[in-house]
Amino acid sequence: MSIINLENITKELIAAKKIAIAGHIRPDGDCIGSCTALYLYLMNNCHELGIEQVDVYLEPFGEEFNILPGTDKIRHSYDYDESYDLFISLDSSSLDRIGNAIRYFNSAKRKISIDHHITNENYADVNHVVANASSTCEVLYNLMNEDKINEDIAMCLYVGIIHDTGIFRHSSTSDKTMEIAAALIRKGINFTRLIDETFIQKTYTQLQVLGRCLTESVLLLEGKIIVSHISKKTIDFYGLAYTDLNGIIDQLRTAKNTEVAVFIYETDFNEHKVSLRSNGIVDVSKIAHLFGGGGHVKAAGYSMVGTVDDVIIKLLPQIKAQLT
Ligand code: 5GP
Ligand code: MN
Ligand code: MN
Repeated sequence: MSIINLENITKELIAAKKIAIAGHIRPDGDCIGSCTALYLYLMNNCHELGIEQVDVYLEPFGEEFNILPGTDKIRHSYDYDESYDLFISLDSSSLDRIGNAIRYFNSAKRKISIDHHITNENYADVNHVVANASSTCEVLYNLMNEDKINEDIAMCLYVGIIHDTGIFRHSSTSDKTMEIAAALIRKGINFTRLIDETFIQKTYTQLQVLGRCLTESVLLLEGKIIVSHISKKTIDFYGLAYTDLNGIIDQLRTAKNTEVAVFIYETDFNEHKVSLRSNGIVDVSKIAHLFGGGGHVKAAGYSMVGTVDDVIIKLLPQIKAQLT
């Protein structure tokens, strides 16, 4: 991990006139919050920094995030014919996580990665990875000048932090995280609305699917593992986007006496996305990394070609090995 500070990053920024920002595929709250926060920050200070253009690229995401300022400026297509002085990747631990934004990464003169994943592969010219930070939004907050964080930027950073900490419940939450949250609240944000509208509220269909996934879950390895799965056929039947499945893994994880929760959904024919959560003993980032994915000790994921049975047959011995 290369250690950099605000001055280093500022130097990169000052040299750049045209900047692209991108997060990871299937963006989550931290990814969307960090992208919009950085976009607003750079745009607000573009004269001082000599920036002429900032574009943000993200795959489509749930409409609950449209509450965040700056989301209306996000480009959801990668067909723009652009090349950039600087590409800033946020919340993305490896190049395959960047998805179609890779074309702008490849053609950019300089590349920065700002992230908090322990599995970050240091793929950029400058890699600012703070593995003990709760979220990329927390990392970004520490890189920003506090005086330049307005209410809009504070909203974005706050949403990123609450999503990656499960509203300050996960062990990644530190005293520093709470202090940053307090500083963001002092900017005047309506934090209860942000929590309710982006995290708590579910559509009726989302609730139905959650119920179905809980009902169809199974316990394995003497109740140490809870597993649930949803097929593409069912996802299509309900007309769901992948973001409608957010939160299911966190409900599975609450099953008493389980060590690991596994949620598997079919993304394409014979292709599955796997989400893993650990209650402490098992390091799921190691397992996800083994299968080409990544994440954190207690929350990680990967994609795999094969049937759901293939996924489970390969996964179980890895979890078992860490439980014994
Ligand atoms: P989730 O299960 O909520 O999709 O992801 C949990 C954590 O694992 C997040 O920090 C996310 O960035 C990481 N993660 C999930 N899927 C993948 C993946 O396919 N590749 C990598 N590198 N990280 C992943
Ligand atoms: Mn993320
Ligand atoms: Mn994150």
